[in-house]
Amino acid sequence: MKSYQPNEYVVERDEEKCIRCKVCVNQCTYETHSYDEEEDVIRSKDENCVNCQRCVTFCPTKALSIRKNDSPYRQNVNWTSEVINDIKKQAETGGILLTGMGCDKPFLSYWDRLLLNASQVTNPSIDPLREPMEIRTYLGSKPDSLEMEFENGEVALKTHLSPQLTLETPIMFSAISYGAISLNVHESLARAATDYGTYFNSGEGGLDPRLYKYGDHAIVQVASGRFGVHSHYLNSGAGIEIKIGQGAKPGIGGHLPGEKVTGDIARTRMIPVGTDALSPAPQHDIYSIEDLRQLIYALKEATDYTKPVSVKIAAVHNSAAIASGIVRAGADIVAIDGVRGSTGAAPKVIRDNVGIPIELAIASVDQRLREEGIRNRASIVAAGGIRSSGDVVKAIALGADAVYIATAALVAIGCTVCQKCYTGKCPWGIASTDPWVAKRINPDIASQRLTNLLRGWSLEIKDMMGGMGINAIESLRGNRLNLRGVGLTDTELKILGIKMAGD
Ligand code: SF4
Ligand code: SF4
Repeated sequence: MKSYQPNEYVVERDEEKCIRCKVCVNQCTYETHSYDEEEDVIRSKDENCVNCQRCVTFCPTKALSIRKNDSPYRQNVNWTSEVINDIKKQAETGGILLTGMGCDKPFLSYWDRLLLNASQVTNPSIDPLREPMEIRTYLGSKPDSLEMEFENGEVALKTHLSPQLTLETPIMFSAISYGAISLNVHESLARAATDYGTYFNSGEGGLDPRLYKYGDHAIVQVASGRFGVHSHYLNSGAGIEIKIGQGAKPGIGGHLPGEKVTGDIARTRMIPVGTDALSPAPQHDIYSIEDLRQLIYALKEATDYTKPVSVKIAAVHNSAAIASGIVRAGADIVAIDGVRGSTGAAPKVIRDNVGIPIELAIASVDQRLREEGIRNRASIVAAGGIRSSGDVVKAIALGADAVYIATAALVAIGCTVCQKCYTGKCPWGIASTDPWVAKRINPDIASQRLTNLLRGWSLEIKDMMGGMGINAIESLRGNRLNLRGVGLTDTELKILGIKMAGD
């Protein structure tokens, strides 16, 4: 069928600068560039370009640039080029429109409407270069009170403490499954988490045995498909996460296309090579909080009560009530993923229309758990659209203990958020399992870039805390007095539990 869709991008090559080295030809996995031997010229097929910027970055003479194709359609605020092209695409394929990464609709980013406080005159600020700043974070259930005992002049803790995850910075790498990304990317995340003293998350595809050595810094996920879940896997991680929902696709399951289910991925997931890995929408053994409790305790039992169990949900309308039930069911950590959370592949209509912003969810969950007197029983992890250390600090001030990052981590190793992860052709070697392309990620280099990102953000977090006169991250958690809103309605301010700037 002839396609009626115009190309989205236009490739521009400066022929004066081009030395016909063919780097762009080799780097592009969408076959945008080709070399015409007869005429000794490089040509481009604009219709193939997804604007991943791989060729532009690696062109040695800076001969390339890519620009958005000016809309050929008449300007219309309702019938935008995106809307028209999506309809054309579906008329041609008759299928669900897939996309990758997080929602890019211009919903309000509350992070950008929140401002932090800084000490002036009284309660002076703290200089992190000269004074110790504590950002170590412990995730897990905390007791209602602590009992001490004194023996032979020594003080000892009598209260039994639940297992905890110890983070040297309140930032972890969010769940990204092996298969959605290559082993090299998984290893880079694992190595950076180990080097910096934090955690990566296996995602729902199991853990390749070659990564078990990073188990002390792994959170292993148990999702509805139970891919790769066995006793050795559960015991290999430092923590376990039950995935109920994901911010990019609340209420639906996952899908890894059969073409990406190659040898090692199939073995890790415990499914035949080349079969589609479809995880069901619900966990088929969970239809109530009591069922969830059974799974939480089954996992605790399977790991001898040595690992905290997290439950991950998508941020939806009644997240606060759901989180309360999850905590009462015995979870040690509640991870909440907002509407801007990323994915390797999701139906576009779900990604862009379902869920709520993480800022509102975190504030309401923290508030509800405090009101019910159970906030200490579980830690809260915020995920979905954390772009900077400023967002991290604001998330913690709204009530989170720590955050998960995924898109930011992938950007650190080359991702340009082109949203084509679902094609499996990622030219940066990230969301691709093609061995030739996957080699573009060198775990030595990528893990260094990730460690640098964690270090940079951690230094900035200390700077912001110092400015507020806070020297321990514990004092920032849920400290909404240090936040003010700009351009928000009374209802929004009420849900966030903050005052208007100037008040
Ligand atoms: S990478 Fe740059 S210099 Fe090399 S062929 Fe492509 S456009 Fe020309
Ligand atoms: S991971 Fe690759 S395909 Fe996905 S958005 Fe980033 S650059 Fe594009």
